[in-house]
Amino acid sequence: MPATSVQEWIQNVIKPEENEKYKTNGLNFIQAGRIEELLRSQLHPEKAYIRDIIAKSLQLERLEPEETAALLNCTDPELWEEMFAAGLKIKQKVYGRRIVTFAPLYISNHCVNSCVYCGFRSENKQSQRMQLNDEQLQAEIKALVEKGHKRLILVYGEHPDSDVHYISHTLEIAYAVKSGPGEIRRCNVNAAPMSIDDLRLLHEAGIGTFQVFQETFHPDTYRRLHPRGIKAHYEWRLYALHRAMEAGVDDVGIGALFGLYDWKYDVMGLLLQSIDLEKHFDGVGPHTISVPRLEPALNTPFLEKNGSAIDDETFKKLVTILRLSVPYTGMILTAREPAEVRQQVIPLGITQIDAGSNIAIGGYHQDSPDYQRQQFILGDNRSLDEAIADLAAMGYITSFCTAGYRCGRTGLDFMGLAKQGKVHNLCMPNAILTFKEYLLDYASPDTQAIGEKLIASELAALPNPKVKEIVTDYLNRIEAGERDLFL
Ligand code: SAM
Ligand code: SF4
Repeated sequence: MPATSVQEWIQNVIKPEENEKYKTNGLNFIQAGRIEELLRSQLHPEKAYIRDIIAKSLQLERLEPEETAALLNCTDPELWEEMFAAGLKIKQKVYGRRIVTFAPLYISNHCVNSCVYCGFRSENKQSQRMQLNDEQLQAEIKALVEKGHKRLILVYGEHPDSDVHYISHTLEIAYAVKSGPGEIRRCNVNAAPMSIDDLRLLHEAGIGTFQVFQETFHPDTYRRLHPRGIKAHYEWRLYALHRAMEAGVDDVGIGALFGLYDWKYDVMGLLLQSIDLEKHFDGVGPHTISVPRLEPALNTPFLEKNGSAIDDETFKKLVTILRLSVPYTGMILTAREPAEVRQQVIPLGITQIDAGSNIAIGGYHQDSPDYQRQQFILGDNRSLDEAIADLAAMGYITSFCTAGYRCGRTGLDFMGLAKQGKVHNLCMPNAILTFKEYLLDYASPDTQAIGEKLIASELAALPNPKVKEIVTDYLNRIEAGERDLFL
């Protein structure tokens, strides 16, 4: 696209006035100096203070920024063991032993932006550009449904060709495809920040969660890494999810791309974004926080010399601190991470993963890991069935549940349940029921065997006898051929 047309398009899309009401005295909620000062003010936290903070998290209370800053500065190995254990306890208390599973579906990689770390940046001439047409999209969805997927995140580059009308059209197609006993029941979207009017259209099209990652909250670094295009506008992105909530999309997903800047600063940024959303939307913060780490990408030299990459130990710490800071918020760990890292990090507080992922555009139905149509290189290339068997061996039920969204348990309703630690009263039964469907319709014999044992033990562990009775009845009905039964 010629540079002048891109500029005109950007001028038409961005409406800075839509952000104004969320600012305080004209300032946004990320003030770099304040975050640095908070981190400095808690440099040597006392043991007793850290233990008080852990106790507060265990009560499922959201932490204040100075408390998270203290955790970020903790270096005592004994306290770290206590924090890891607390993360695990919180996850168990709020979400139970279940992991919600989805697949990413890349739909278009046309992009006007220049994010220096991304294989899709407009300057990357080695990237093969592609936008799925209706037939290709149907073929992709069919391939995913036939593997057993029920939940997707649809991913798009930032370009006039993938505007809200195109995205809504793709949602309509995704929900319409049926194959055998399967269908997609929830589509989340990761796409460019939009205006409130466009977000209303997305809401009407049946979007699940709208996800936008800030990448880094550090304004100077952000500017350097996003030199051109619509993404160069830091505040348009910073308030993308405030606008989504205002438009009625009340499940929103935030994230930072770890490895771009100081991880402690960006953990603080995620907490401040959660707090600001809670402040403006009746206590409803983000539905999920994603913790992507930078991965290698085709013809992307920035990634070879980047000095902010974080190691696995640090990664575990940042996941744990986020778990303690916002105990009731879902956390997503993607297949960017290799299987061994996922096995270690999931117990620390992760609630959702993708599995059986292929991020080449058209890759599911063509079954090709074509790097020229891929944004970056994945770390975990196991099939859905292998990943599910592995989770089961770790004692986790894979949930394909989409009932919450379809029963209106989103936004305020979901947050209310999560904050009282009651989500698993509904979610664990629904996890069991959707897991049963998967085992009957798609699982290999080995996965079936280990999965059935897990269902039996989780069913026995359901605390409410009435719920147990309903779930037992539903399991029998599923065995007899019914599908999509939920509480
Ligand atoms: N184009 C939209 C955007 O940038 O928000 C939506 C999709 S983008 C394809 C999804 C996310 O991928 C980005 O928000 C970024 O965090 C992540 N990403 C980009 N390059 C990456 C890389 N090299 N390694 C890991 N994640 C990357
Ligand atoms: Fe485009 Fe998103 Fe990649 Fe940036 S991260 S170049 S906006 S696809």
